[in-house]
Amino acid sequence: MGLKRICGWIIRKKSIGRIIIIEVSSDSVKPSVLVLKEEREPELFKLGMEIDIGTALCFEGEEAPEQRSARGVEYIARKIEVYAKPIEPLPVDTMGKVPALLDTRIKYRWLLVRNPVEKAIFIIRNSLLNAAREYFSKNGFIEVQTPKIVAAGAEGGATLFKIQYFENDAYLSQSPQLFKQMLMAGFTRVYEITPYFRAEKYNTTRHLNESWGIDVEQGFINSVEDVLQTLENLITYIIEYVLKNNKEELEILGATLKKPSTPFKRLKFQEAVDILRSEGLEISETEDLSDYAEKKLGEIMAGKGYELYFIVGFPWASTGFYYMRDEDGVYTRKFDLDYSGLEIASGGQREHRYEKLLNALKEKGLNPENFSFYLEAFKYGMPPHGGFGLGVERLLMRMLNLENVREAILFVRDRTRLVP
Ligand code: ATP
Ligand code: MG
Repeated sequence: MGLKRICGWIIRKKSIGRIIIIEVSSDSVKPSVLVLKEEREPELFKLGMEIDIGTALCFEGEEAPEQRSARGVEYIARKIEVYAKPIEPLPVDTMGKVPALLDTRIKYRWLLVRNPVEKAIFIIRNSLLNAAREYFSKNGFIEVQTPKIVAAGAEGGATLFKIQYFENDAYLSQSPQLFKQMLMAGFTRVYEITPYFRAEKYNTTRHLNESWGIDVEQGFINSVEDVLQTLENLITYIIEYVLKNNKEELEILGATLKKPSTPFKRLKFQEAVDILRSEGLEISETEDLSDYAEKKLGEIMAGKGYELYFIVGFPWASTGFYYMRDEDGVYTRKFDLDYSGLEIASGGQREHRYEKLLNALKEKGLNPENFSFYLEAFKYGMPPHGGFGLGVERLLMRMLNLENVREAILFVRDRTRLVP
């Protein structure tokens, strides 16, 4: 058996007579277990007595012929290099289950990622993004980057962070919407993995002020169904990828993720309204569903066996100006994807016809002059197109049954948090 070099941090130490057992957390959720015997390696045993939880070290060793620990692979060490000892006791427990309050977990996330449970979340987040990139590259999408400092928002001014840009006012981008659409003038399929900055003041379990999205736009579509299909395939690909590659992480989190059944239900907005009204809720036919209605619908759909479902055909009165309207002018090609009562994505077919787009802007009370850079892209052969924005933290939250969206991002930006 070969010699291995492993680097990490001590998360647990136990002495039983003349044996010391040290667990080292490295880049996987299973710690490496160092077994030091006074009889066998007296020098290393002596060193083992002196180092404690929190120490950063590397060791060289081989797998023990007899494996007794259920927590991780046991090693017999040949060499231990100590790199840094903690100068104070650790403020949080990095060992096992996560007992700390959410507030503490957020404050010490950078330290708690030594903890196998906390680490598991972010290893799966990495897988989610790897899977998405793999799906896109297999399906002809190219990855693009669009500006995060912008002059106008996609949805009007209320939720924009204003910044000073030399002599001008500018904003942090709340969505790459306008730019990814403009790129439909020359690419047929693009995606971007991007932050969303939103100055929403409320404090909920599903909103961050800086969150991440997987944004897609595809051209030459026949109908919005092409876009629904892409999103359905992407979600299925991601979940299957995580099921295949993250068994240990899912187990440690106690997550009950399973392969979604396809096709996802396509529920018309009006049907959703009817269902909710039949349950006695007061629902407007022209506004987006409230959080309460969204949750309630999730329960009703769960009862029918649907975890993931689209709500299609939102009313024009409730949407952004850029969605394509149906002939009747009342409904649009906008959809949401909900996962157990939580919106995880919004998308739709866009208006690609210049005159109609101009009128839509005016009808929504926006000043076309502020959007002239965008409108120009529709003058020179803009094909029918559509896409969506999928929230990374919301998807991860649902996949892992996390209670709060703040558990799904390393460093939280919300109403009260600007550090660390
Ligand atoms: P909500 O109605 O839940 O506030 P939204 O409709 O304003 O969301 P979209 O503009 O549709 O959000 O953004 C696309 C996706 O990005 C959402 O479906 C969601 O998954 C995610 N997202 C948007 N805003 C936030 C946020 N503040 N925090 C976390 N995720 C977000
Ligand atoms: Mg939305």
